[in-house]
Amino acid sequence: MKRKLIRTFIVVMSVVVISGMELSAGGQQHLVQKGDTLWGISRKYKVPLKKIIQANSIQPTNPLQIGKKLLIPGAPVEGIWYRVKAGDTLSGIASRHNVDWQDLQRINGITSPRHLQIGTRIRIQRDNSLSFGNPLRVPLVVTSKYGYRHHPVTRRYQLHEGIDFRVATGTRVYASRAGKVIFAGRRNGYGKMIGIEHEGDFTTWYGHLLSIRVRVGQTVTKGKVIGLSGNTGVSTGPHLHFEIRYKDRSENPTNYITIP
Ligand SMILES: [Zn+2]
Repeated sequence: MKRKLIRTFIVVMSVVVISGMELSAGGQQHLVQKGDTLWGISRKYKVPLKKIIQANSIQPTNPLQIGKKLLIPGAPVEGIWYRVKAGDTLSGIASRHNVDWQDLQRINGITSPRHLQIGTRIRIQRDNSLSFGNPLRVPLVVTSKYGYRHHPVTRRYQLHEGIDFRVATGTRVYASRAGKVIFAGRRNGYGKMIGIEHEGDFTTWYGHLLSIRVRVGQTVTKGKVIGLSGNTGVSTGPHLHFEIRYKDRSENPTNYITIP
Protein backbone atom coordinates (compact mmCIF):
# COMPACT_ATOMS: atom_id res chain seq x y z
CA MET A 1 0.00 0.00 0.00
CA LYS A 2 2.77 2.36 0.94
CA ARG A 3 4.57 1.47 -2.27
CA LYS A 4 1.47 2.23 -4.24
CA LEU A 5 1.21 5.62 -2.57
CA ILE A 6 4.81 6.39 -3.37
CA ARG A 7 4.26 5.31 -6.95
CA THR A 8 1.24 7.55 -7.25
CA PHE A 9 3.27 10.37 -5.76
CA ILE A 10 6.04 9.85 -8.28
CA VAL A 11 3.59 9.77 -11.16
CA VAL A 12 1.95 12.97 -9.95
CA MET A 13 5.36 14.60 -9.57
CA SER A 14 6.38 13.54 -13.04
CA VAL A 15 3.22 15.11 -14.44
CA VAL A 16 4.10 18.31 -12.61
CA VAL A 17 7.61 18.17 -14.01
CA ILE A 18 6.45 17.40 -17.52
CA SER A 19 3.97 20.24 -17.61
CA GLY A 20 5.55 23.43 -18.75
CA MET A 21 8.19 21.63 -20.72
CA GLU A 22 8.59 21.44 -24.42
CA LEU A 23 7.72 18.08 -25.81
CA SER A 24 9.26 17.04 -29.08
CA ALA A 25 6.84 14.31 -30.03
CA GLY A 26 3.10 14.75 -29.84
CA GLY A 27 0.46 12.47 -28.39
CA GLN A 28 1.98 11.74 -25.03
CA GLN A 29 0.27 14.53 -23.20
CA HIS A 30 -3.24 15.85 -23.44
CA LEU A 31 -4.27 19.38 -22.63
CA VAL A 32 -7.80 19.24 -21.26
CA GLN A 33 -10.19 21.37 -23.25
CA LYS A 34 -13.78 22.39 -22.78
CA GLY A 35 -16.07 19.47 -23.43
CA ASP A 36 -13.39 16.82 -22.89
CA THR A 37 -14.35 13.68 -21.05
CA LEU A 38 -12.07 10.98 -19.72
CA TRP A 39 -13.92 8.48 -21.84
CA GLY A 40 -13.38 10.59 -24.95
CA ILE A 41 -9.68 11.04 -24.19
CA SER A 42 -9.34 7.30 -23.59
CA ARG A 43 -10.89 6.58 -26.96
CA LYS A 44 -8.88 9.23 -28.75
CA TYR A 45 -5.53 7.82 -27.60
CA LYS A 46 -6.72 4.20 -27.52
CA VAL A 47 -5.49 3.96 -23.94
CA PRO A 48 -7.70 2.29 -21.29
CA LEU A 49 -9.58 4.73 -19.11
CA LYS A 50 -8.24 3.07 -15.98
CA LYS A 51 -4.65 3.66 -17.06
CA ILE A 52 -5.25 7.37 -17.60
CA ILE A 53 -6.94 7.65 -14.22
CA GLN A 54 -4.08 5.81 -12.51
CA ALA A 55 -1.32 7.70 -14.29
CA ASN A 56 -2.76 11.04 -13.33
CA SER A 57 -4.25 10.01 -9.99
CA ILE A 58 -7.51 11.71 -10.70
CA GLN A 59 -10.94 11.05 -9.27
CA PRO A 60 -13.10 9.84 -12.12
CA THR A 61 -16.10 11.39 -10.44
CA ASN A 62 -14.62 14.88 -10.34
CA PRO A 63 -14.96 17.07 -13.43
CA LEU A 64 -11.81 17.48 -15.53
CA GLN A 65 -10.05 20.77 -15.06
CA ILE A 66 -9.76 22.71 -18.28
CA GLY A 67 -6.12 23.47 -19.00
CA LYS A 68 -4.86 20.51 -17.01
CA LYS A 69 -2.24 18.42 -18.74
CA LEU A 70 -2.87 14.72 -18.60
CA LEU A 71 -0.17 12.16 -19.01
CA ILE A 72 -1.29 9.55 -21.51
CA PRO A 73 0.41 6.34 -20.43
CA GLY A 74 1.61 3.95 -23.05
CA ALA A 75 2.43 6.74 -25.44
CA PRO A 76 6.17 7.38 -25.34
CA VAL A 77 7.27 10.61 -23.74
CA GLU A 78 10.57 11.63 -25.22
CA GLY A 79 12.90 14.51 -25.66
CA ILE A 80 12.25 16.09 -22.30
CA TRP A 81 14.25 16.64 -19.15
CA TYR A 82 13.27 14.98 -15.93
CA ARG A 83 14.54 15.91 -12.51
CA VAL A 84 15.17 13.00 -10.14
CA LYS A 85 12.99 12.96 -7.05
CA ALA A 86 13.41 11.11 -3.78
CA GLY A 87 12.48 7.48 -4.25
CA ASP A 88 12.99 7.51 -8.01
CA THR A 89 14.65 4.61 -9.72
CA LEU A 90 15.99 4.67 -13.24
CA SER A 91 13.81 1.73 -14.25
CA GLY A 92 10.78 3.43 -12.71
CA ILE A 93 11.44 6.67 -14.58
CA ALA A 94 12.02 4.71 -17.79
CA SER A 95 8.87 2.63 -17.53
CA ARG A 96 6.72 5.67 -16.76
CA HIS A 97 7.99 7.30 -19.93
CA ASN A 98 7.85 4.05 -21.88
CA VAL A 99 11.53 4.09 -22.73
CA ASP A 100 14.29 1.63 -21.94
CA TRP A 101 16.26 2.25 -18.74
CA GLN A 102 19.47 1.11 -20.39
CA ASP A 103 18.92 3.76 -23.05
CA LEU A 104 18.57 6.37 -20.31
CA GLN A 105 21.71 5.08 -18.67
CA ARG A 106 23.70 5.23 -21.91
CA ILE A 107 22.41 8.57 -23.09
CA ASN A 108 22.89 10.23 -19.72
CA GLY A 109 26.19 8.54 -18.96
CA ILE A 110 24.91 7.26 -15.62
CA THR A 111 27.53 5.10 -13.97
CA SER A 112 25.52 3.81 -11.02
CA PRO A 113 21.83 3.49 -11.92
CA ARG A 114 21.01 2.19 -8.45
CA HIS A 115 22.17 5.38 -6.81
CA LEU A 116 20.48 8.22 -8.61
CA GLN A 117 21.14 11.57 -7.07
CA ILE A 118 18.10 13.62 -6.23
CA GLY A 119 17.96 16.69 -8.42
CA THR A 120 19.95 15.17 -11.27
CA ARG A 121 18.50 16.07 -14.64
CA ILE A 122 17.87 13.11 -16.89
CA ARG A 123 17.23 13.35 -20.59
CA ILE A 124 14.28 11.15 -21.48
CA GLN A 125 15.23 9.79 -24.86
CA ARG A 126 15.16 6.55 -26.73
CA ASP A 127 18.38 5.20 -28.12
CA ASN A 128 17.50 4.62 -31.72
CA SER A 129 20.82 3.13 -32.60
CA LEU A 130 20.83 -0.43 -33.84
CA SER A 131 22.36 -1.70 -30.64
CA PHE A 132 21.22 -4.86 -28.92
CA GLY A 133 20.63 -4.96 -25.19
CA ASN A 134 20.87 -7.77 -22.69
CA PRO A 135 17.77 -9.97 -22.57
CA LEU A 136 18.11 -10.24 -18.78
CA ARG A 137 18.58 -7.67 -16.05
CA VAL A 138 20.06 -9.96 -13.49
CA PRO A 139 23.79 -10.66 -13.32
CA LEU A 140 24.60 -12.76 -16.38
CA VAL A 141 25.94 -16.26 -15.81
CA VAL A 142 26.94 -17.97 -19.04
CA THR A 143 26.57 -21.73 -18.87
CA SER A 144 27.11 -22.44 -22.54
CA LYS A 145 28.78 -20.26 -25.13
CA TYR A 146 28.03 -19.86 -28.79
CA GLY A 147 29.85 -22.37 -30.98
CA TYR A 148 30.31 -26.08 -31.59
CA ARG A 149 29.80 -28.35 -28.62
CA HIS A 150 28.47 -31.70 -27.57
CA HIS A 151 24.81 -31.12 -26.82
CA PRO A 152 24.32 -31.58 -23.05
CA VAL A 153 21.31 -33.83 -23.56
CA THR A 154 21.61 -35.47 -26.99
CA ARG A 155 25.46 -35.61 -26.81
CA ARG A 156 25.57 -34.79 -30.52
CA TYR A 157 28.43 -32.54 -31.67
CA GLN A 158 26.67 -29.55 -33.16
CA LEU A 159 26.62 -25.78 -33.38
CA HIS A 160 25.13 -24.17 -30.32
CA GLU A 161 23.51 -21.26 -32.12
CA GLY A 162 23.06 -19.04 -29.12
CA ILE A 163 24.30 -18.38 -25.66
CA ASP A 164 22.85 -19.92 -22.48
CA PHE A 165 22.40 -17.91 -19.33
CA ARG A 166 21.65 -19.71 -16.10
CA VAL A 167 18.70 -17.94 -14.57
CA ALA A 168 16.00 -18.77 -12.05
CA THR A 169 12.65 -19.82 -13.48
CA GLY A 170 10.26 -16.89 -13.64
CA THR A 171 12.86 -14.19 -14.31
CA ARG A 172 11.77 -11.44 -16.67
CA VAL A 173 13.09 -11.63 -20.22
CA TYR A 174 13.44 -8.39 -22.19
CA ALA A 175 13.40 -7.64 -25.90
CA SER A 176 17.00 -7.11 -26.90
CA ARG A 177 16.04 -4.57 -29.53
CA ALA A 178 12.87 -2.98 -30.85
CA GLY A 179 11.14 -5.13 -33.41
CA LYS A 180 8.17 -7.25 -34.37
CA VAL A 181 7.31 -10.63 -32.88
CA ILE A 182 7.48 -13.31 -35.59
CA PHE A 183 7.24 -16.38 -33.39
CA ALA A 184 5.66 -17.09 -30.01
CA GLY A 185 5.05 -20.68 -29.08
CA ARG A 186 6.66 -24.09 -28.75
CA ARG A 187 9.58 -24.95 -30.98
CA ASN A 188 11.10 -28.41 -30.72
CA GLY A 189 13.86 -28.65 -28.15
CA TYR A 190 13.69 -24.94 -27.41
CA GLY A 191 10.40 -25.34 -25.57
CA LYS A 192 8.44 -22.14 -25.34
CA MET A 193 10.21 -19.66 -27.57
CA ILE A 194 9.90 -16.12 -28.87
CA GLY A 195 11.38 -14.79 -32.09
CA ILE A 196 11.61 -11.07 -32.84
CA GLU A 197 12.46 -9.53 -36.18
CA HIS A 198 14.55 -6.36 -36.15
CA GLU A 199 15.54 -3.76 -38.69
CA GLY A 200 18.48 -4.71 -40.85
CA ASP A 201 17.72 -8.43 -41.34
CA PHE A 202 18.34 -9.37 -37.71
CA THR A 203 16.24 -11.62 -35.53
CA THR A 204 16.59 -12.51 -31.85
CA TRP A 205 15.35 -15.71 -30.20
CA TYR A 206 14.56 -16.51 -26.60
CA GLY A 207 14.14 -20.17 -25.66
CA HIS A 208 13.12 -22.50 -22.80
CA LEU A 209 10.66 -19.92 -21.47
CA LEU A 210 8.17 -20.53 -18.71
CA SER A 211 5.67 -18.12 -20.22
CA ILE A 212 5.21 -15.87 -23.21
CA ARG A 213 3.76 -12.39 -22.88
CA VAL A 214 3.66 -11.30 -26.52
CA ARG A 215 1.77 -12.31 -29.64
CA VAL A 216 2.95 -12.83 -33.20
CA GLY A 217 2.66 -9.57 -35.10
CA GLN A 218 3.07 -7.41 -32.01
CA THR A 219 5.69 -4.68 -32.15
CA VAL A 220 7.90 -4.40 -29.10
CA THR A 221 10.17 -1.69 -27.83
CA LYS A 222 13.68 -2.44 -26.75
CA GLY A 223 13.62 -3.53 -23.13
CA LYS A 224 10.00 -4.62 -23.10
CA VAL A 225 9.24 -7.65 -20.95
CA ILE A 226 8.32 -10.37 -23.45
CA GLY A 227 8.12 -13.38 -21.17
CA LEU A 228 9.50 -15.25 -18.19
CA SER A 229 12.47 -17.56 -18.29
CA GLY A 230 11.99 -21.24 -17.57
CA ASN A 231 13.09 -24.74 -18.28
CA THR A 232 10.80 -25.90 -21.10
CA GLY A 233 11.94 -28.09 -23.98
CA VAL A 234 15.16 -30.09 -23.96
CA SER A 235 17.07 -28.56 -21.09
CA THR A 236 19.18 -29.68 -18.17
CA GLY A 237 18.17 -26.84 -15.86
CA PRO A 238 16.50 -23.43 -15.77
CA HIS A 239 18.18 -21.17 -18.30
CA LEU A 240 17.60 -18.75 -21.13
CA HIS A 241 18.81 -19.62 -24.61
CA PHE A 242 19.45 -16.33 -26.43
CA GLU A 243 20.20 -16.19 -30.09
CA ILE A 244 20.96 -13.40 -32.57
CA ARG A 245 20.59 -14.20 -36.27
CA TYR A 246 21.59 -12.11 -39.26
CA LYS A 247 19.94 -13.03 -42.54
CA ASP A 248 18.77 -16.15 -40.71
CA ARG A 249 22.27 -17.33 -39.81
CA SER A 250 23.24 -17.39 -36.18
CA GLU A 251 25.87 -14.96 -34.98
CA ASN A 252 27.85 -14.94 -31.77
CA PRO A 253 25.77 -12.76 -29.40
CA THR A 254 28.94 -11.54 -27.71
CA ASN A 255 29.61 -9.55 -30.87
CA TYR A 256 26.51 -7.54 -30.09
CA ILE A 257 25.88 -7.52 -26.36
CA THR A 258 28.25 -6.89 -23.51
CA ILE A 259 28.68 -9.79 -21.15
CA PRO A 260 30.71 -8.81 -18.13
ZN1 LIG B 1 21.22 -22.83 -25.78
